Amino acid sequence: MYDVAIIGGGLAGLTNAVHLSKEGLKVILIEKNSYPTHKVCGEYISNEVLEYLDYLETNPFLIGAVPIDKFLLSTQKGKTTKANLPLGGFGLSRYALDNLLFKKALANGCVIKKATVETIEFQNNYFRTTTRDGSAYLATFVIGAYGKRSRLDHKLDRDFIKTTSPYLAVKCHYFGDFPEDLVALHNFEGGYCGVSKVENEILNVCYLADANSFKTYRNTKTFQEQVLCKNPHLKELFSRIKPIFEQPLTISQISFSQKATVTDHILMSGDAAGMVHPLCGNGMGMAIQSAQLLSNLLLEYTSNKKQNRTWLESNYTKEWNKVFQKRLLAGRIINRFFSNHNMLDKGLGLLRLFPFALPYIIKQTHGTSI
Ligand SMILES: Cc1cc2nc3c(=O)[nH]c(=O)nc-3n(C[C@H](O)[C@H](O)[C@H](O)COP(=O)(O)OP(=O)(O)OC[C@H]3O[C@@H](n4cnc5c(N)ncnc54)[C@H](O)[C@@H]3O)c2cc1C
Repeated sequence: MYDVAIIGGGLAGLTNAVHLSKEGLKVILIEKNSYPTHKVCGEYISNEVLEYLDYLETNPFLIGAVPIDKFLLSTQKGKTTKANLPLGGFGLSRYALDNLLFKKALANGCVIKKATVETIEFQNNYFRTTTRDGSAYLATFVIGAYGKRSRLDHKLDRDFIKTTSPYLAVKCHYFGDFPEDLVALHNFEGGYCGVSKVENEILNVCYLADANSFKTYRNTKTFQEQVLCKNPHLKELFSRIKPIFEQPLTISQISFSQKATVTDHILMSGDAAGMVHPLCGNGMGMAIQSAQLLSNLLLEYTSNKKQNRTWLESNYTKEWNKVFQKRLLAGRIINRFFSNHNMLDKGLGLLRLFPFALPYIIKQTHGTSI
């Protein structure tokens, strides 16, 4: 019997695993993929998580993270504006970051199984989690850290899964020159593309697009040539950088809908609890912070047996909403503004006139050091 079973070993699941095993809980993490592996992600992480990563003894700069403190925004027509990032951040691939946390979780004594979770049942105040290979694991708590969308959401009959989402995303690593201290966000018809350096001189290029605008082009190569490259900055970039992957990675059905923080007593963490629009560049920070929040509450619960499960679930929901709801709302508003080219064009003129405005907008989707 485990104290905690964590379903999904991305940033949220791994952070929960490192934190809870460091504090002496008996933890099992079940992840369907092996480590290290590449993930579709912009790979720019806000510095707000640095102090906490230090507490977890997982320093990203020891494995080559690149400090980033400048931001450049361009419209489809190529108009630009620049700003200093209020708190700054760093570039590090998910291949490297997830693997760092994975190794730390193992070193802390966490059990990590490679398997796909099929069912999670709650009965007699404990959970039984079964995997595709027929194994079953018992635990007092289950953390759902299985990301933005999973078959488990269908099984748990979660509301957001009943509607389709129009977003897809593409990511590829490249060799090529690009300023180390900069993250660029380039707008194009139906989406936006983030560009920044990660470890080992590698350049990460990742974009989010509306599936409807993508449909007519059928493949990423044509879409890149005919849509992304209408932005002169992306055209110049793609003309001189060399892909490292044989094929870019793609994902679809990315949902930014409201989600429940607790479903059938499963405590959701990271994207499984709620996802901010990637243009805010803070989904990873939020996944890590939500894991910190949940781990602290779980530890408070286990050290004080007077609390009951209802206390834990309602406090987690309350705290999660207090910390993240405003950021999610700001992300939705910024995304709406960003999807409207006329508004973005006019807005960019204003942002140039009032240089303090862009850092102010960025702050609305970020917090302070955690
Ligand atoms: C296009 C795009 C760009 C982004 N860019 C940035 C950025 O630049 N900066 C930033 O901060 N954030 C960014 N984000 C957001 C960030 O990637 C996510 O918020 C973050 O990955 C959330 O981590 P997570 O652990 O919740 O989910 P994930 O990292 O997705 O991990 C979930 C894990 O669960 C596993 N899993 C799923 N189902 C099962 C199952 N049934 N059994 C076992 N395992 C399972 C999966 O294999 C996966 O490893 C971006 C997102 C997108 C889509």
